[in-house]
Amino acid sequence: MKAAIINEYSQDVTVLKYKNVPTPEPRPGEVTIRIRASAINHCDTDLRKGLFGISQSFPWVMGVDACGEIADIGKGVSGFSTGDKVSPHFMLSCGSCRNCQDGKENICDTADILGVTVWGGYAEYVRCKPHHLIRIPDSLSFTNAVAGQIPFATAWEALIEVAHLSVGETVLITAAGGGVGTAAIQIAKLAGAKVIAAAGNDEKLEKAKELGADEIINYTHQDIGEFCKSITEGKGVDCALEMVGGKILSQTIDSIIDGGRMATIGAHGGERVEIDFVEFFRKHITIHGAGRSTKAQVNKVLSLMANGQLKPVIHKIFPLEAASEAHRVMESRDFFGRMILDV
Ligand SMILES: [Zn+2]
Repeated sequence: MKAAIINEYSQDVTVLKYKNVPTPEPRPGEVTIRIRASAINHCDTDLRKGLFGISQSFPWVMGVDACGEIADIGKGVSGFSTGDKVSPHFMLSCGSCRNCQDGKENICDTADILGVTVWGGYAEYVRCKPHHLIRIPDSLSFTNAVAGQIPFATAWEALIEVAHLSVGETVLITAAGGGVGTAAIQIAKLAGAKVIAAAGNDEKLEKAKELGADEIINYTHQDIGEFCKSITEGKGVDCALEMVGGKILSQTIDSIIDGGRMATIGAHGGERVEIDFVEFFRKHITIHGAGRSTKAQVNKVLSLMANGQLKPVIHKIFPLEAASEAHRVMESRDFFGRMILDV
């Protein structure tokens, strides 16, 4: 099969090469999927550079986020037919550990991760087990499905499941111009919340407004805590989705009302953060880690996308052979929406 592979880790995007590699065959109890679209995630560029913290053997096919149709079915598999539109859940969970049995396969004790511990979606075919499959609604195109499935499900997990965002509340979303940020704006509006979008780029903030953000703040020249209090009669926001880390995380804690909740995903802006724990416990704030969604959450957002209630934002669609160019754009940070590979 054709795939975009790496044979070494490198800062240089051209390390990604379009090559022939062996096509995976389904073993008993498995299916293969003919991948039709794959999306670029930040974790892919980290993996290409060897920064992921897990070593791969070469050649390696990355790609955590893909969808396609079932191409071949191994012995003992029922309930699926060739041609079914599916996504492999990125957490290739064991199905039997205490978290899997509790419906939390996103924190499975022993899961493989698509494109990280097994070959992923930058390829024509991928292999997985039927309990990893998520069905894609017929009305949804492969490119739209893959553009939305992880960002919307991640935002859903963080805002709805973890931070319990509800109707009439005010929510602060940092890194609002990113993939999860733009998804979170739409989900928060759908949940009936007032949205404050924060980012470090005015152009992205204007686009965040077009997606439904009620208020915008550029945190390169304004303090988030002061801004949030100024528009909530000095009280602060009920809820926050924080995705930057560093001083932005500190300012986000300042922006939260007594009893408020924060979900945190990612810390590219600073992994070590000084927190005033006196302020933290006196305000009865809850901070909860998030970032990996379940199959149920992916199913939920796919049906909302199929209904037109959530609209994935695509920056550009590249052919698989141009995966290196897609990585280059990802690292330029000069984009709005997702980079998709048409496979
Ligand atoms: Zn498990």
